Amino acid sequence: MKQQFDVVIVGGGLVGAALALALDRQGRRVALVEGQSARFEQLESGWDARVYAISPANRRFLDSLGAWPDMARIGTIASMDVRGDQGGRIAFSAADAGAEALAWITENRWLLAALWRQLQDASSVELIEGVRPLSLSHNPRQAQLQLEDGRELVAKLVVGADGANSWVRQQSGIAADVKPYGQSGVVANFATEKPHDGIARQWFLGDGILAWLPLPGKCISIVWSTPQPEPLLALPAERFAAVVAEAGEQALGKLEVLTPAAAFPLRLLTPQHVIAERVALVGDAAHTVHPLAGQGVNLGFQDAARLADIIAAGRDPGEWLALRRYERGRKEAVRTMQLTCDTLFGLFHAKELPGIAWLRNTGLNLTNRLPLIKRQLARHAVGF
Ligand SMILES: Cc1cc2nc3c(=O)[nH]c(=O)nc-3n(C[C@H](O)[C@H](O)[C@H](O)COP(=O)(O)OP(=O)(O)OC[C@H]3O[C@@H](n4cnc5c(N)ncnc54)[C@H](O)[C@@H]3O)c2cc1C
Repeated sequence: MKQQFDVVIVGGGLVGAALALALDRQGRRVALVEGQSARFEQLESGWDARVYAISPANRRFLDSLGAWPDMARIGTIASMDVRGDQGGRIAFSAADAGAEALAWITENRWLLAALWRQLQDASSVELIEGVRPLSLSHNPRQAQLQLEDGRELVAKLVVGADGANSWVRQQSGIAADVKPYGQSGVVANFATEKPHDGIARQWFLGDGILAWLPLPGKCISIVWSTPQPEPLLALPAERFAAVVAEAGEQALGKLEVLTPAAAFPLRLLTPQHVIAERVALVGDAAHTVHPLAGQGVNLGFQDAARLADIIAAGRDPGEWLALRRYERGRKEAVRTMQLTCDTLFGLFHAKELPGIAWLRNTGLNLTNRLPLIKRQLARHAVGF
């Protein structure tokens, strides 16, 4: 059976789901092909150790889609406190940027559930769940996807929102540079003895980076980027909590594990292009960054918003000139974020260079004393 769409999106994770909703609001005929059965009712249950720091710009985007999760489940970052490995420190707050919050912390499952709940009522979107594509072909006028259940989808544009190992990217012959960081991100949630006061705390530990992110109530979520995740994962819950509390200088007193630790390998992924004939890539399919700045999914949502805007402005969503505008429009923001994270990572992991530890810690302290630069940092964090 052949079905015709304006846009077919492969991958119904956060970015693909957001793009599908944005295109639905334009009345575009969309198919969203998600390999897993995404039963959103189950998505909401329990704590999720994977959390995202959503920027104010992306909160506005999600709000516009009606997909901002219940605030009872959202932590607010009012300020940041970043510590170097030898006494360096910088702190800045939303007030420095005249904003309500630097970012909001949301759990992956709850955010995904909010998007999928909206998708159930999206009249222009056909949800195709639990099915994967088998082949992708394209010509100057359209692209065609053959699904494993025998369906054929024809569209003006196929979007790869299928994550870092993107099948669409591979089928489109787009090569990607991959640089493993030699680290994994260990994530877990904790109840804390003391209130966190909306402060996101980060420690550059010399051989790793530890972030404590405020969840609602007296709870936090951590991302510990470390070259050796295994010893942490092997610890019994109480010992793990004690090690995390110790690494964070006991800033919130005793910790108690809410969700067991999980680890994800970290790498920098840079495809040579994010478009091909009748194809565009968004989200992790188009880029990955180190989570030290918590910007991965923020970049992805901005891809979706930008691509949706460009599609809204034209008649043919897969027209080459429009795709070129999308690629050019996203290049600088993505590259800047990748470079910033990569440089910070390099600076705090270059042990062998004499004086580098002094330089990075002095740099943090100096910046901390310069109100103008701090305001710029805060404004950058909130997406001004
Ligand atoms: C440890 C860690 C911590 C992080 N912390 C943060 C953070 O604090 N803030 C932040 O902004 N980002 C963070 N990130 C990054 C963030 O997780 C990703 O940027 C985000 O999940 C990307 O979303 P996506 O929709 O592009 O891809 P994905 O979430 O990977 O979704 C891809 C979807 O496509 C589907 N799919 C895949 N292949 C196919 C196929 N062939 N056919 C059909 N469907 C398919 C998958 O089932 C999935 O649903 C972190 C990452 C790591 C590793």
